[in-house]
Amino acid sequence: MRRRRLLRGIGSAGLLLGLPGALWSGAGNQESKTGLVLDRRFLDHMIRPDHPESPDRLRAMRALFEARGLLGDCRRITPADHPGDSLYAVHEERHIERIAARYPGTHPVALLASGGAVAAAEAVMAGEVRHAFCASRPPGHHAQNTGEEKGFCYYNHIAIVARHLQRQHGLKRILIADWDYHHGDATEAMFYDDPSVLFFSTHDVSAYPGTGHASRRGEGDGEGFNINVPLVCEDGDSEIMAAFENRMLTAADDFKPDFVLISAGFDSRKDDPLGCFKVSDSGFAELTALMLDVARRHCDGRLLSILEGGYNLDGNARAAAAHLETLVEHA
Ligand SMILES: [Zn+2]
Repeated sequence: MRRRRLLRGIGSAGLLLGLPGALWSGAGNQESKTGLVLDRRFLDHMIRPDHPESPDRLRAMRALFEARGLLGDCRRITPADHPGDSLYAVHEERHIERIAARYPGTHPVALLASGGAVAAAEAVMAGEVRHAFCASRPPGHHAQNTGEEKGFCYYNHIAIVARHLQRQHGLKRILIADWDYHHGDATEAMFYDDPSVLFFSTHDVSAYPGTGHASRRGEGDGEGFNINVPLVCEDGDSEIMAAFENRMLTAADDFKPDFVLISAGFDSRKDDPLGCFKVSDSGFAELTALMLDVARRHCDGRLLSILEGGYNLDGNARAAAAHLETLVEHA
């Protein structure tokens, strides 16, 4: 049932960064149809102390979720320590071995993030929740089989969960929409010749990793199932909404997905230190509502979003809260 709530007190995410770890746990609302993956162990990874992909991203997000009452509005989902066999459908043994050897502290956290996505997908498929958001890190959409970290990513959670849904649940068609400021190059590469996964991305081609041109449409049987819509600096709500309404919706209605996945990066938000787009928090709420509509039309509302980028601590938290609030409102 839809309910439109008045904005609650926002509080200052920055002031709440020092919350003790005990407050991370909690079942939330086990009746809620919106799932949330958020685990203290996601803090146990740091590239270096001054790096923008920092544990404080999740601390700020968690604090704002609590201030807005969102933790009590969601059913908490415990991540699996390991995503299972689908990891090997996406990543080569050699990549996994090298990640484990090079980054022994990060390796289990990255696997936990993949395991969170798989646990959330399981909860959706079991009907425990209709949709879920994974507030997890490290992110994943740049993780290819290079044996090293790429764009702050180690394992591609969204690709792993797409394969999991196909292999374990027999789903035929998976839609992945990626609204991160950066192109999801690894996701594109993994499904470039695969017509069973429709990949749609808005991004800045002049930014890292430099891929994502509109001419890259997929190949072989996968031709037409890869849609890149580059935006430019200063683009905001109207431009990203136009891309999703004009390009994603038509493609999704032809494709008729069995499950909707979102690479939810909030570095496309205004004031991100690594980006130059101007998407507002209400813009992310609109994008979320649009994706929920697609999921309702084609697959009984089954939708899972996974955090990717977003490096303005306060902005990232606000955008993620707008996203999660929209999910809760439409549960
Ligand atoms: Zn990004």
